[in-house]
Amino acid sequence: MGELLPSEQAMPDEQRKRTSELARSVPKQLLIGGRWAAAKSGKTFETVNPATEEVLATVAEGGADDVTEAVRAAREAFENGPWPRMRPHQRTRCLLKIAELLEAHADELAALITLDNGKPIAEARGEVGRTIEVFIYYAGWATKIYGETNPSEPALFNYTLREPLGVCGQIIPWNGPLSMIAWKIGPALACGNTVVLKPAEQTPLPALRFGQLAVEAGVPEGVVNIITGFGPTAGAALARHPGVDKIAFTGSTEVGKEILQASAHDLKRVSLELGGKSPNIIFADADLKSSVSGSAAGIFRNQGQVCSAGSRIFVQREIYDEFAQRLAETAKGIRLGDPFDPHTTMGPLVSAEQHERVLGYLEAGKREGAKVKIGGERGPQPQGYFVKPTVLVDVGNAMRIAREEIFGPVASLIPFTDEADAALQGNDTIYGLAAGVWTRDLSRAHKLARALKAGTVWINCYGMIDPISPFGGYKQSGIGRELGQHSIELYTQVKSVLIRL
Ligand code: NAP
Ligand code: MG
Repeated sequence: MGELLPSEQAMPDEQRKRTSELARSVPKQLLIGGRWAAAKSGKTFETVNPATEEVLATVAEGGADDVTEAVRAAREAFENGPWPRMRPHQRTRCLLKIAELLEAHADELAALITLDNGKPIAEARGEVGRTIEVFIYYAGWATKIYGETNPSEPALFNYTLREPLGVCGQIIPWNGPLSMIAWKIGPALACGNTVVLKPAEQTPLPALRFGQLAVEAGVPEGVVNIITGFGPTAGAALARHPGVDKIAFTGSTEVGKEILQASAHDLKRVSLELGGKSPNIIFADADLKSSVSGSAAGIFRNQGQVCSAGSRIFVQREIYDEFAQRLAETAKGIRLGDPFDPHTTMGPLVSAEQHERVLGYLEAGKREGAKVKIGGERGPQPQGYFVKPTVLVDVGNAMRIAREEIFGPVASLIPFTDEADAALQGNDTIYGLAAGVWTRDLSRAHKLARALKAGTVWINCYGMIDPISPFGGYKQSGIGRELGQHSIELYTQVKSVLIRL
């Protein structure tokens, strides 16, 4: 499918034609019980290309009735279908088949991600690769979900069964429109659950294409259901539906709290992966070159629309000015533009709403006294939701831009004095998703790793994600850990069986 990617020389018209053909080829309906269906209300909504502001496609707007239908299909598949009852090996095969099909359609999927989300095509290709890895990883787990035998009293035999939860509602954001599907559906299916997934309204296309590939991979009907639509309607209906056993959500902390409330009514299992304001701490003894490039990637990748983005960069005072200068030079080297151009290293933000929001934070930062070292304004493009990669200096940890999640390409540089100050300021946030530490001092690195209240601490790197490594938040960054064995725990429950001998 490599021919779908516009070449470097392609005329904009040619590019527009190819990408609109690609968008046209994706199903635009809801996937319920293995069949594609329009929303019961007949409603649809438009998804927009954030680089051009053009409408890409019109897709079904699922509502509460459609959610009910999908939950019914998932329930039927769980209670009476083959999925939870088949040999675990067969589930492994099916998940591997999904991975194989994702690989076979990798270029096309990357193009769909770039179209709907705006991230540069090379980053989208990377996202497809990571999606495949997660499916392969959880394919392996399907045959390795064990119970225990426990040393109970002599006249009793006690063992445990680790069983699937049932119907899982999964609500995902737009920043990783395909990889988030793998994080959610991969472990849920490995454990024998069935799912109803609601992708973000901004990026329905990769999810719909995924649904088509899942059907092609032989996932039995009703095991994967996809409801495109809006959060307050379709998403909220899923979160409060009495037929849903578990809700898994990735998105804003604000909505995460609503999900938790909605799920309390019938005590659904809940896992939440929410926002962050992660500290990335640079000591004067760090390798300057790698700390600058790693920190730049940590805040500018995916236009800064990453929950674990290193958005508060704490720099030890001795090197503050030099670090700021070098980071600004790195930002200057970023090529903002058409995300299909292979030379582009930063695309547009995902939507008009996010564009407004990020520009609003830039204004707020300036008003509070932060200085723009570079960027600080919208991109020069006449169309599209572009924001220049931005480095702000003279930022204080109490400013709004240092306390609230901006979710854009905005690095805020805050000075610190010593280890204790770094930990104190780094932890002074309602969030606790991730943190970074750059130093050549091994003992300091370990001390900081313990002191920082974050679900992930990166030392001399930033943003590394591996399917074997748990990911999730301290404090208001979430509940539960995804990836690794931890997702298997999130998608199963334990039954204890006691037998009198
Ligand atoms: P969001 O509202 O939290 O969206 C995440 C998902 O939740 C989407 O599928 C959304 O649907 C759905 N949703 C929204 N309201 C809901 C409700 N009441 N009940 C159930 N589901 C609901 O995030 P956003 O509005 O796209 O972005 C706002 C901010 O959230 C960003 O600026 C960023 O700070 C943060 N964010 C964090 C992450 C992350 O990875 N942790 C990802 C995205 C955004 P619709 O999209 O259809 O409304
Ligand atoms: Mg929203």
